Amino acid sequence: YLNRQDAMESNVRSYPRKLPLAIAKANGIWVTDVEGNQYLDCLAGAGTLALGHNHPAVFEALRDVLDSGLPLHTLDITTPVKDAFTEALLGFFPENFVLQFCGPTGADGTEAAIKLAKTYTGRDNVIAFSGGYHGMTHGSLAMTGNLSAKEKVGNLMPGVQFLPYPHEYRCPLGLGGEAGVDALTYYFENFIEDVESGVVKPAAVILEAIQGEGGVVPAPAKWLQKIREVTAKHDIVLILDEVQAGFARSGKMFAFEHAGIVPDVVVMSKAVGGGLPLCVLAINKKFDAWAPAGHTGTFRGNQLAMAAGLKVLEEIRDKNLEENARVQGEFLRSEVQKLQAEFGCIGHVRGRGLMNGIEIVDERKPADHMGSYPADSELAAAIQTACFNNKLLLERGGRGGTVVRILCPITITHEECVEVVARFKQSVIDALQ
Ligand code: PMP
Repeated sequence: YLNRQDAMESNVRSYPRKLPLAIAKANGIWVTDVEGNQYLDCLAGAGTLALGHNHPAVFEALRDVLDSGLPLHTLDITTPVKDAFTEALLGFFPENFVLQFCGPTGADGTEAAIKLAKTYTGRDNVIAFSGGYHGMTHGSLAMTGNLSAKEKVGNLMPGVQFLPYPHEYRCPLGLGGEAGVDALTYYFENFIEDVESGVVKPAAVILEAIQGEGGVVPAPAKWLQKIREVTAKHDIVLILDEVQAGFARSGKMFAFEHAGIVPDVVVMSKAVGGGLPLCVLAINKKFDAWAPAGHTGTFRGNQLAMAAGLKVLEEIRDKNLEENARVQGEFLRSEVQKLQAEFGCIGHVRGRGLMNGIEIVDERKPADHMGSYPADSELAAAIQTACFNNKLLLERGGRGGTVVRILCPITITHEECVEVVARFKQSVIDALQ
């Protein structure tokens, strides 16, 4: 299978390089390859499969749609399935919010959100953050912090300005603490608009409340609150990208809820479609500035994705999956933190709920003035490979891929968490040999 793929697919393909398996079937957190090997899947469709693979409730909902004679695709014309999904999803937002179906990827959503902010404000520029990830299309890539992805692509969307994102283990200025909040205030008070020096006020600020691809970095509540305050004060549209952190993964329905803030626009994809392609914006009506048909797109009417998404919402509510993500996530982190005493290469363990990262460092080198050791890309890659050999699928993130990410389904059980930690520990031992 793998050799065949080498010949048939573009060199650009990504995951098969690090996870060389051909998948035959899957169930919950388990994936079985064509040779019958079983893996624990802590990548879960890059965070898409909140309920794990092939959840019975999702399957039943999909079968119901297929049996009902409903069209699979309706552009943005409504159906009973769409109505039920819209009502359920809106229930997670304040009353003054409306939904916009975009389609169907996360990048489509971040692009649409920026276009809306530009339309509403009549301004052009955007503030994004170091380490942020918003997609790989021209506009979304322009707002993504990863430099290597951009270096060979000219003429991305202009007018994107990056500010530093707080990072409790890496940021030398301690931007997550009081100093960071002060720095942010200072910036917005003094540099947000300066006609003489040509600095123009941005249309939007876009960010993740927990950076995912950037290495699992949760933003401190105070810092997010300050961003909410200054964007409101300056009439700048605040866009929260919840494509990865949303849908209970962080232990709350949306990661921004940990800071008690309400954004102007929320971008949802991945889990919103229960494993099928879907992207939805939630917009404070005040900012719903589109003219009729001001933003179209063919694939906004995927009925199967909406039926699956409705099941995800119902399971989150009925099975209290926010709580499960909190409890299992705390257990996972505390177990991996215990390993730090034994393995100096586990530099930092962080995350919220079931969005967790383990930063791999070289503790034989000198620590910086924050007491943090230099990141170790090679060892992180070796650990990922060892995990694969121990039948644990996971991905890395952060600059140089130095953060091992555990992004399991939010339905994970205690026993499965124990198994994940055991396999991870064995993989660290193997990688260090
Ligand atoms: N935003 C965030 C926070 C993401 O994690 C991703 C995907 N990893 C995207 C946007 C882009 O989504 P897509 O790959 O569906 O375009």
